[in-house]
Amino acid sequence: MDVVVIGAGQAGLSSAYFLRRTGLDFVVLDANPGPGGAWRHRWPSLRLGTVHGIHPLPESTVPSADPDRPASEVVAEYFGGYERAFDLPVRRPVAVRAVRESSDRLLVETDSGTWSTRAVINATGTWDRPFWPHYPGRFDGRQVHTANYRGPEEFAGQRVVVVGGGASGVQSLIEIAEVAASTTWVTRRPPVWREGPFTPEVGRAAVARVADAVREGRIPASVVSVTGLGLTPEVIEARGKGILDRLPMFDRLIPTGVAWNDGRTIDADAILWATGFRHALDHLAPLRLRGPGGGIVMDGTRVAADPRIHLVGYGPSASTIGATRAGQAAAASLKRLLKSGEQNEI
Ligand code: FAD
Repeated sequence: MDVVVIGAGQAGLSSAYFLRRTGLDFVVLDANPGPGGAWRHRWPSLRLGTVHGIHPLPESTVPSADPDRPASEVVAEYFGGYERAFDLPVRRPVAVRAVRESSDRLLVETDSGTWSTRAVINATGTWDRPFWPHYPGRFDGRQVHTANYRGPEEFAGQRVVVVGGGASGVQSLIEIAEVAASTTWVTRRPPVWREGPFTPEVGRAAVARVADAVREGRIPASVVSVTGLGLTPEVIEARGKGILDRLPMFDRLIPTGVAWNDGRTIDADAILWATGFRHALDHLAPLRLRGPGGGIVMDGTRVAADPRIHLVGYGPSASTIGATRAGQAAAASLKRLLKSGEQNEI
């Protein structure tokens, strides 16, 4: 192969669309059993209308927000149709275990054989690496991470602690509060509420903050996490009911719930950890791309230390709009690198 794309979410499919136009030989390897990227795993109560909004894949239109159908189904259908329409060479389920250097090529080792390639576009997202912070102590109730959240029903009649100040935490908290006996919201920092609509300026400012981090080789926060929390009608209503009165992070777990060092305790039947995700990059470890800051120094979508490797959907491009643009940038850059002497534009 000239290029192996790892992952067939928004970032991988956008890369594939633009690679098709370069004439380079490529394949997309995806660990999922079917199309949809991370969206296919998102909880059934998540609807397209309740997320920030999805940016279309190149040369396509996002399906309209259907209040009766889970985003997981709608996006999986959309991506599946897209793969067929553009005849994208997606192989699944193929899980990449490691990418290694081998003389002048890269070896992509998977659970279904090894691909030899001149370049890699990594588009593996974050869903496969839920971040579950450690707190001391032991809790005897149920603990669930956003990655395993299936909707509010499983918390009916229970006392629930929701941990995390991001959009997922707020959305889950509001729907759980409808059916739970009680809810408690704890976050490390006070939430930042965003007055007004989610404008392109808000988006650009958030992306710029994350872009600075990856240029300097720091571990990036998610773009979605730095946009602030929108004051939607549901959020305003929940604030009015006191559902979003937040407590600072607890200090430890106790068998019956959570405890603070000032002696306060809250009893709970379940804890929902809406504590986010990290980039799924373990398979790139043999390439030793991480610097002293723990992150990978980036130059656009390209790893600064190795122009054959692009990370898309990473750092500032970890949103549907960013991922789509990153796919185009990565394909154009690899065309320049691998087909030197030809026209750069695609
Ligand atoms: P993914 O969609 O995660 O796709 C990655 C693919 O790579 C998956 O199919 C996975 O199986 C595969 N993969 C992973 N590891 C391997 C491996 N080792 N080998 C082979 N394949 C592998 N963004 C927005 O723009 N608007 C929103 O409203 C929005 N809401 C969000 C809500 C939540 C709860 C979350 C977590 C994120 C949200 N985002 C939103 C962010 C957005 O979903 C992603 O940034 C975007 O979809 C880009 O996806 P991706 O292609 O990078 O990754």
